[in-house]
Amino acid sequence: MKLPEKVKIREVAPRDGFQSWPEFVPTDRKLEVIRALVEAGVREMEATSFVSPKAVPQMRDAAQVMAALPRGQCTYCALVPNLKGAQLALEAGADRLGVFISASEKHNQANVRRSISDSLADLAAIFHLARERGVPVEGAVSVAFGCPYQGDVPHQDVFRVVESFLEQGAELVLLADTTGMATPNRVEALLEDCRKKFPQGNFGLHLHNNRGTAMTNLFVALQMGVTVFDTALGGIGGCPNVPQAAGNLPTEDVVYLLEEMGVATGIDLVAVIRAAHLLEKILGRTLPGQVMKSGPRDPELAAQVCGIGHDVLQA
Ligand code: ZN
Repeated sequence: MKLPEKVKIREVAPRDGFQSWPEFVPTDRKLEVIRALVEAGVREMEATSFVSPKAVPQMRDAAQVMAALPRGQCTYCALVPNLKGAQLALEAGADRLGVFISASEKHNQANVRRSISDSLADLAAIFHLARERGVPVEGAVSVAFGCPYQGDVPHQDVFRVVESFLEQGAELVLLADTTGMATPNRVEALLEDCRKKFPQGNFGLHLHNNRGTAMTNLFVALQMGVTVFDTALGGIGGCPNVPQAAGNLPTEDVVYLLEEMGVATGIDLVAVIRAAHLLEKILGRTLPGQVMKSGPRDPELAAQVCGIGHDVLQA
């Protein structure tokens, strides 16, 4: 088994997770979760997004969240759909900007109500503005592994967006499996093709678990040397109104898997499980994460952190 020594976890629960939550999560509760994540060792986070408050009411407190973030240990990325969002995010003090464009025309239209060409046309101005402030920009290619409207997404369509990001100087390109359609063979094929075509690119993965394939996809990418992964505390990020719906890969599940295989994440498992419990309490619903229920391997610790009795452990 060939695995990297360490990986970078980008925590996206405060953005991708909360974004799809139906009820407004009060700003101070969002910050409580963010603080718990930083205390657990999270050093990269998508803290919020500067999108239209009409389209995504949950993110209407983006500027307030940015203003109250615990600074000094963690780098905060703000997701922006356009130039206006970038201006607001920079004014609010974002450490990094994240821009996202879909590889499929239909999904881009549904997501940001404009064509891929129009989204691409904004990139130069966004990158220019960020560069003036010394703020790095990351690019995410949405629906890179499959689109809920059109099905398969040709690699050429992914390349088009990747190329534009890299031309502008994106430090990182995240290939996003927005609705969990990726499978290991598709992950391998797209990564191989992207690396061949863009040897200068730094590629990470943003995986969703709608079909239960996200962890397997992560494992394949890991063996190919990918070292940047987006995860969300508790596995939030899917539609919470659908029973058994699953969102992003749960941070604590990924930390467990990686640390148990000797891959350093810099995140403390017990602390991140406790953060997931806090999140579950705040949201008031059972979250998809598994390790937050079963606990660490050590039986005493599992009993202590997750309240699992020995009778259950022995059953
Ligand atoms: Zn996502």
